[in-house]
Amino acid sequence: MDSVASLLHHSNTPMQTFDVTIVGGGPAGSSCAAFCALAGLHTLVLERERFPREKVCGDCLNPSSWSVLERLALTRRVLGLPHSKLTSVEFIAIDGHKVIVDLPTGDDCEISVKRSLFDDLLLRRAREVGALVREETIVTALEHNGDWKIATATSEDFHARALIAADGRNSTVARLRNLLARPTRERVALQAHILLPQKFGKRIVLQFLREGYSGQAPVNETELNLCLVGTPPTISRLRQWAQSHFEILLRASLRGTRSRGDCENRQRQRSTVSAARIRSRLRRNVSGKTLDQSAGTGGCSIASAGIIFYSSCAS
Ligand SMILES: Cc1cc2nc3c(=O)[nH]c(=O)nc-3n(C[C@H](O)[C@H](O)[C@H](O)COP(=O)(O)OP(=O)(O)OC[C@H]3O[C@@H](n4cnc5c(N)ncnc54)[C@H](O)[C@@H]3O)c2cc1C
Repeated sequence: MDSVASLLHHSNTPMQTFDVTIVGGGPAGSSCAAFCALAGLHTLVLERERFPREKVCGDCLNPSSWSVLERLALTRRVLGLPHSKLTSVEFIAIDGHKVIVDLPTGDDCEISVKRSLFDDLLLRRAREVGALVREETIVTALEHNGDWKIATATSEDFHARALIAADGRNSTVARLRNLLARPTRERVALQAHILLPQKFGKRIVLQFLREGYSGQAPVNETELNLCLVGTPPTISRLRQWAQSHFEILLRASLRGTRSRGDCENRQRQRSTVSAARIRSRLRRNVSGKTLDQSAGTGGCSIASAGIIFYSSCAS
């Protein structure tokens, strides 16, 4: 990092040109921004959403993250967030056969924590150590002519010596630079925080089903993270499975990823209209269904039969 800092500081960079601009303020972008700022780089983060925002995810923090969080002086603050210490992973085969694997204990333990809380903490840390963070700022176009010129939906341009794409799986930056590979297989995911079933314990459940799979993990004392992963043709059957499996408990919301095609369409829209206008357009366009803005990460939700299904361009 020191060598990157000295390399970038070497030039006669004008004041308004950032050493590094990072697109996306998720865990990758915010931790990268914090390390860049700590290394003395003039660092900018451009983030589409206003944090805290939810993100389709299983909420489980891989133990290999602890060393990174420690370097960012965040270990105690992460453990201060509502979370669950997870003790095992239970794999359930389609025929019901189970395999249980214990998780590490002690300092190496695996926890689950809501992404709204975790991502917000990381982004705040990036700010604290000196990164400039611009939320509700959607990157729409790029020009590279020695330095980078980064255009946004609010018509404000930014300049940077280095550009880092941390804008997720359906990255706008990768698409604009023709680096986004065509997906070989489209998968769709739904996710919700629902009431924690009694006696669920501190396990992660990975349950394989004919239509795809479901991941489940408690995220605090009262809520369960429920994920469903399938394909566009199977996702509604997975939703029905979840409705019957968690019958009374599933009165919260399911957030979801979109297929690549949907994401590309939305990204095209984003380059011409503001996030608020896109959301209100989405609310109007989905026939007979109510869309909710609260999903974060470009999300919307479809209320149907009393259950709210969220949808977003997430990984
Ligand atoms: C169903 C499911 C379950 C998962 N479970 C787990 C799990 O339990 N544990 C785990 O570690 N991982 C899990 N993952 C993977 C995890 O969600 C991703 O690896 C992680 O979110 C990647 O982080 P990131 O910072 O790279 O991108 P993201 O978290 O996607 O963040 C990208 C950010 O970029 C912003 N952005 C996007 N486009 C633009 C733009 N044009 N301009 C400005 N900002 C933009 C977005 O708003 C977003 O905040 C899961 C994924 C899915 C789909």
